[in-house]
Amino acid sequence: MTVVLAGAVLATGAAAQDGLSPADRGLAREVFKQLIEINTTDSLGNTPRAARAMAQRLLAAGFPAADVRVLIGPDSAHGNLVARYRGTGTGGRPIVVFAHLDVVPARRTDWSVDPFTFLEKDGYFYGRGTTDDKVGDVILVVDFIRLKRAGFRPTRDLILVLTGDEETAGSCIAWLVVKHRDLVDAEFALNTDAGGGVLRDGRRVMFTVQASEKVYATYALEAADKGGHSSLPRPGDNPIYRVAAALQHLSDYQFPVQLNEVSRAFFERSAAIETGQLADDMRGVLKDPPDPAAVTRLSAVPFYNSKLRTTCVATMLAAGHAENALPQAARATVNCRILPGEPPAGVEATLRRLAADDRITVSTVYTPIPSPPSPLTPAIMGPLERLVADQFPGVPIVPVMEAGATDGLFLRNAGIPTYGVSAVFEDPNDIRAHGRDERIGVQSFYDALEFWHRMLRAFASQQ
Ligand SMILES: [Zn+2]
Repeated sequence: MTVVLAGAVLATGAAAQDGLSPADRGLAREVFKQLIEINTTDSLGNTPRAARAMAQRLLAAGFPAADVRVLIGPDSAHGNLVARYRGTGTGGRPIVVFAHLDVVPARRTDWSVDPFTFLEKDGYFYGRGTTDDKVGDVILVVDFIRLKRAGFRPTRDLILVLTGDEETAGSCIAWLVVKHRDLVDAEFALNTDAGGGVLRDGRRVMFTVQASEKVYATYALEAADKGGHSSLPRPGDNPIYRVAAALQHLSDYQFPVQLNEVSRAFFERSAAIETGQLADDMRGVLKDPPDPAAVTRLSAVPFYNSKLRTTCVATMLAAGHAENALPQAARATVNCRILPGEPPAGVEATLRRLAADDRITVSTVYTPIPSPPSPLTPAIMGPLERLVADQFPGVPIVPVMEAGATDGLFLRNAGIPTYGVSAVFEDPNDIRAHGRDERIGVQSFYDALEFWHRMLRAFASQQ
């Protein structure tokens, strides 16, 4: 209830700041409803339909057919939209702006409302994808239309990319980058599906820009033995004991603290917003060398720990074949989130060293895709600082490195620096993406729509 009240107060206070006409709002709402009601859960294969629906919107607004491409791939079940808003070229190489069309599954029985019926209630829009990430699709499509209608002529091409499987394989963006590089090649990219504003008790406290993602990797630790009758145990040969001992070593281990440009900026700016011990500890880890007591306290909070170091954790176990037989095999799955600058080979070597048992094999299950941090250059941060100061006065920008991974990973890997600037303000204690009753604050939505409108204009007006 408090959240709803706080949201209502915020909505009243902020309504005057967005420059949206009633027609803009009407269009945004209509497109949002249309997209939420196309169920794009991966198993249904509806992303081609969603891509076509959005293409239709752009064509109706006057974008030439040659510049609005629905690309089915990498297989027939996945659809992507790539649309180019042509610029004069005087402002530099193109900018990619992207979102994803697919959503994670949502069951009607789990929700208090129908996840695939767009609904406005108590100052929120409800529906699967309202925050992750149909909001991004709507913002990009509607802002392209608004700019076109206003006769805006960009100084560089703006390339809108909506992908079909961010929530599962990420194969769509990987395919686009390889097979249609000419269509998506850009100087840098702006991601609607990362970063975002933070609300605390209904107040806007920070505007985050995601400039880095940790690298995802999965390893298997395996041991084998000839087995035998369980009435005749040979403890030294038991694969379960051997893998268990290796996991115990892993559980006791912490990778070293290592800060990069993005995590350093994150702790510096967060320290200015936080108070007390937490703020002191953030300053403590920035010292050279970092203050050990501060490191210990921050490491106890999973959110901060994930920003300080690489993490590896056991996530699955499989072993044995009968309750009365000695096990012939044991296998543990270990999922790692590697700091962007750290070589994955070193992490694998650490797992081997921790196992401390040459009869345990360590192998790669998911090969890490390197994703270098995107530099926080003045050309990017300057305009963002100005835009945030204009629309959300007094709200600091905080660069972040995320522990999760998005489509941005594949663009960074392809040499296209990528910045997550969702601009949607949310309360971190009420994040419903992937969960039940997903919703977005109505005013948060319109504010983000307006922010992107101004941001596209700003980046594509430079000479
Ligand atoms: Zn997403």
